[in-house]
Amino acid sequence: MQKDRTGTLYVVATPIGNLQDITLRAIEVLKTVDRIAAEDTRHAAPLLKHYSIAKPMFSLHEFNEREQLKLVLEYLAQGESIALISDAGTPLISDPGFPLLREAKACGVKVVPIPGPCAAIAALSAAGLPTDRFTFEGFLPAKSEARRHRLNTLLHETRTMIFYEAPHRLLSTLEALRDVFGAERKATVARELTKIHESVLTNHLQNLLDRYTAHPLEQRGEVVIVVQGCDEEMSETKEVIPEEVLDILLEVLPVKQAAALASKITGQRKNVLYEMALAKKK
Ligand code: SAM
Repeated sequence: MQKDRTGTLYVVATPIGNLQDITLRAIEVLKTVDRIAAEDTRHAAPLLKHYSIAKPMFSLHEFNEREQLKLVLEYLAQGESIALISDAGTPLISDPGFPLLREAKACGVKVVPIPGPCAAIAALSAAGLPTDRFTFEGFLPAKSEARRHRLNTLLHETRTMIFYEAPHRLLSTLEALRDVFGAERKATVARELTKIHESVLTNHLQNLLDRYTAHPLEQRGEVVIVVQGCDEEMSETKEVIPEEVLDILLEVLPVKQAAALASKITGQRKNVLYEMALAKKK
């Protein structure tokens, strides 16, 4: 039967390990929606069974999201309500759902968040690092060069940084973080949150690297890495003063070349620097 109003899309957070970490509202919504769009229906089954939730379910994951979103929009247009869940935590947070949300909102669909677990926030809440300002960096690139490049862009970041990481990259990521931010920078490794082997260790990057290198068994499991931002003073990059740059270059280069290079470095117009350089040489 055709319903006369557009349905609602619920974005429902589910546990990140411990099945009890689900809100009463999330259970109620999952019990009352018409359908559940799950990242992996087999993965969702035990959770739904645990809470006696029996609803038609279909998959919506990274690889079928674009085709499936048409289906979801059709259901919604017919007035059905849909709950979007991912394998763990909050959908869309390093999880599928963004294209669906973008389209649903563009079509005027009502989107309702059902908040709950999120590994990033759980790790931050227990890290003991500043929480007043933070940045979620998601997963770093897998290739080491791209990873270092990304980390270099965060060199002057003063906010606490949160990274997701795959277990088999814990050591190499700690190493890269140490190389870029320095051995003394404080960080937290939050492992297996809400599960039996949960641990949240905060220490200097070098100490964390030493510890996990010495304990291979602890390199396993899901992990969030939280890194303290750099000191405000250190983040202040030295102001580039065109005349100072020109002075340095004039020590080793002829006037024309020094002016051209100083212009490239500082953005100051070349002829202005050239005149300045000529005056200095006189
Ligand atoms: N949407 C999820 C959320 O809200 O946290 C994140 C999904 S993302 C695909 C998976 C990553 O989240 C893992 O690689 C790990 O970095 C982190 N993660 C998820 N569950 C975790 C847990 N129980 N303990 C530590 N990290 C976890």
